[in-house]
Amino acid sequence: MVFKCQEDSFLKEFTGTIVSCEPANLKLGDSELQGFNVILDDTILFPEGGGQPCDYGTLNEKPVRSVIRKGSEAIHFVEHKDPFATGESVKQKIDWQRRLDHMQQHSGQHLITALFARDYNYDTTSWWMGTDSSYIELFTNDVTKKELNAIEEAANALIVEGRKVSVTVTSPEDGLKFQDARAPKGLPADHVGPVRVVSIEGIESNMCCGTHVTNLSQLQAIKLLHAEKSKGKVYVHFVAGNRVVKKLGECYERELAMNNVLKGGPAVHLDLIQKVQANMKTLNKSFQKVLKENATMEAEKLNAMPEKPKYFSMHRKDGIEPDFINTFLRSAPTDIFYFLSVSDNTGKGHVVLRGDSEVIAKFGPIFMELLDGKGSSNKENNLQAKVNNVNKIKDCEAKLKQHFSQ
Ligand SMILES: [Zn+2]
Repeated sequence: MVFKCQEDSFLKEFTGTIVSCEPANLKLGDSELQGFNVILDDTILFPEGGGQPCDYGTLNEKPVRSVIRKGSEAIHFVEHKDPFATGESVKQKIDWQRRLDHMQQHSGQHLITALFARDYNYDTTSWWMGTDSSYIELFTNDVTKKELNAIEEAANALIVEGRKVSVTVTSPEDGLKFQDARAPKGLPADHVGPVRVVSIEGIESNMCCGTHVTNLSQLQAIKLLHAEKSKGKVYVHFVAGNRVVKKLGECYERELAMNNVLKGGPAVHLDLIQKVQANMKTLNKSFQKVLKENATMEAEKLNAMPEKPKYFSMHRKDGIEPDFINTFLRSAPTDIFYFLSVSDNTGKGHVVLRGDSEVIAKFGPIFMELLDGKGSSNKENNLQAKVNNVNKIKDCEAKLKQHFSQ
């Protein structure tokens, strides 16, 4: 079966006849849509296949949320409460921006796949079309920057030249002659009828079910983003068509924002960030040192008191740094009950209860519930916990105060 969308990939509207319409649900993320599975005599909405996602569009202005191929039929999921009648004529419209984008990525993929094979003998074993960028998987250990640049240059030269892209419909036997590493398993098991061979003039012919541009000039441009090595394969990430313009716009906006934050142009962004990182490292080291000195000082203050309190609390909000508590406890007197915490501005923190095991047994579970924490204790007189809600420290504090004032 060759659908109308495959016969003429530039058809944006078409009238078809309803063959069947069955109630159905469609899971889309977390939600489940109610509607109908609709089959038409022919369709301009491409059913997902060959690495190309399905088209979106409408049937009589009712939204089509998915199209899948089953044998020689395309099943459209239409989100609506009223069914179509068998034999009814319906107007199909496609989301053209989405379709054109898919065609630009898919034809772009054929082009760079063919050039990597022609110039370097690298087979494309699979490809993936993402919503932001796409990649081809090359069967090789490495693709150098020089090779990447050469293929990008050759591809863009062919786009400027405006090579024709054409589709030939042929028998499955003939079609298989144009098969390569991209589809090692051959045709899908449920395929029936003729197949399509997509050709880029003077470059390649490949059996493919996808929708394609009719001339490489419709690709506008192609940008090979980077090559990523992984276990004997290389993923070449790319964008084609409008995505090149969009990507450049996003990168430039980011560049402007970075100029403002870093107070320097793009040429020095990396240097400036590395400087900031190095400064942060030094500052953090000094901060940790000061924090430890501070913890020891706090402990010394307690040691110097002629009359020790029954309990002592300290709650620091300058970051979750259990080292502060540990340093403090190493120098602090042992005959006092301690309720200590360190936290950051997210409300998360680290809490320690140390002292009389009976007091810990009494208040530990209550505090853990209030502070949304989970405690662990290596000794009966010591409870350590990670907590998620330090805002309730005051309530815990009040309970301890009451206990020790009795
Ligand atoms: Zn293809």
